[in-house]
Amino acid sequence: MSFIPISRPAIGPEEQAAVAAVLASGQLAQGPQVRAFEEAFAAFVGVPHAVAVASGTAALHLALLAHGLGPGDEVITTAFSFIASANCALFVGARPVFADIEPQAFTLDPAAVEAALTPRTRAILAVHLFGHPCDLTALHALADRHGLVLIEDACQAHGAQWQGRPLGAAATACYSFYATKNMTTGEGGLITTPDAALAERLRLLRAHGSPARYRHASLGYNFRLTDIQAALGLAQLPKLPAWNAARRANAAYLTERLTGLPHVCPPSVHPAAQSVFHQYTLRLVDRDRDAAVETLRAAGIGAGVFYPLPIHQQPLYRGLGYTDRLPITENAARQVLSLPVYPGLTPAHLDHIAQAVRAL
Ligand SMILES: *Cc1c(COP(=O)(O)O)cnc(C)c1O
Repeated sequence: MSFIPISRPAIGPEEQAAVAAVLASGQLAQGPQVRAFEEAFAAFVGVPHAVAVASGTAALHLALLAHGLGPGDEVITTAFSFIASANCALFVGARPVFADIEPQAFTLDPAAVEAALTPRTRAILAVHLFGHPCDLTALHALADRHGLVLIEDACQAHGAQWQGRPLGAAATACYSFYATKNMTTGEGGLITTPDAALAERLRLLRAHGSPARYRHASLGYNFRLTDIQAALGLAQLPKLPAWNAARRANAAYLTERLTGLPHVCPPSVHPAAQSVFHQYTLRLVDRDRDAAVETLRAAGIGAGVFYPLPIHQQPLYRGLGYTDRLPITENAARQVLSLPVYPGLTPAHLDHIAQAVRAL
C-alpha cells in the first residue's frame, strides 16, 4: 500500500474543465465566477451574504476590520489553533487574549472566555477546530450579555452545524479554501454574514475601498479571489456534502476500531454538534506522541500533529510579552495526534490505519 497522506485534495475532470473554461474566457481576475461562487456558498451554508477573498487569513482580517475592531480592543480567542486565528487581531492593532479550551472538543471553553473578560473586551473569535463547532449557544449568550461581537473562524468547518443550524447563522463566519481544507480553491477564503451592511463594508475593504471603478471612498486592500479559483470552488462545492458524509463515516469507523484501547482517547462529538471532521484527532495518553507519529509514518500513514506549539507559546507571542499558562491547551498540544480521514480513503486504508494505531 502506498503512503497515506494526512490530506489529499480531490481534483477531478469537473474541476479541470471549469478552470480550463475560465482560462479560455480571458477573464481571469474577480468576475462572474466569483459572484456565482459567493451565491452558491451562501445558499449552501444557508446564510444570506457571502464575500469571497484571497485566503482564510484575509477573511479573518477583513471581518475584524468590518466590525470596527482596532487599537485598545481585546479579542478573546483560543491558543489551540492555526496562528491566523490570533494574528488577525494583531493585524488591526487589537490584542488577542487567550482563553483555555474544553478538553473534549478542543474548542473555546465558555467559562474560560467569561473569566477572560475585561472592560476592553470587544469580541470573541470562536474557532470551530477540526470541523467541530464551538458551543455557540453559550458563546452567543455571553456575547449578548456583554455587548460583544462574535466572529466565527470556520476555516476548518465548511458545512458543520450546531443544534441543526449552520455556522454563521447569527454571526460573521470566515472560511478558508486552502488546499488541505474540506474543499479547496488552491488558496482562497470567504466571509458569510446575515448582515447586508456588513457585507457591503467587506466588499469595499476587499478592493481598495472602491464602490465604483477608480473611485475610492475608504482605505481598502487587494484581497480579491480570482475567477480561476472561484471556478474551482464552484466545481468542488456540490461534492462537499458527500465528502463531509464520507469524513463522518471514516471517523465513525476509526472510532469503533479505536475505542477501549488503554492509551487512546478517540475524538468525541458534542450531542448538539454535527462535525465535518476536518481532522480526526485523538489523544495519546501516557505514551510518547512524537514517537507514535514516527511509528505510524514508518507504517505508511501520514499522521499529523495539530498543533504542537500553542499560539501563546510561539516565539512571536513570547516576544510580545505573553506569559499565559493554559493547562488544557498545553496538555492537548502534547497529546494530540491526527489520522487521515479524507473522503478518498478506501476500507483497506482505514483498516490499515486502525491496525497500525492498535499496534502502538
Ligand atoms: C486554514 C486556517 C486559517 C487560515 O486560512 P488560510 O486560507 O490558510 O489563510 C485560519 N484559521 C484556521 C482555524 C485554519 O485552519
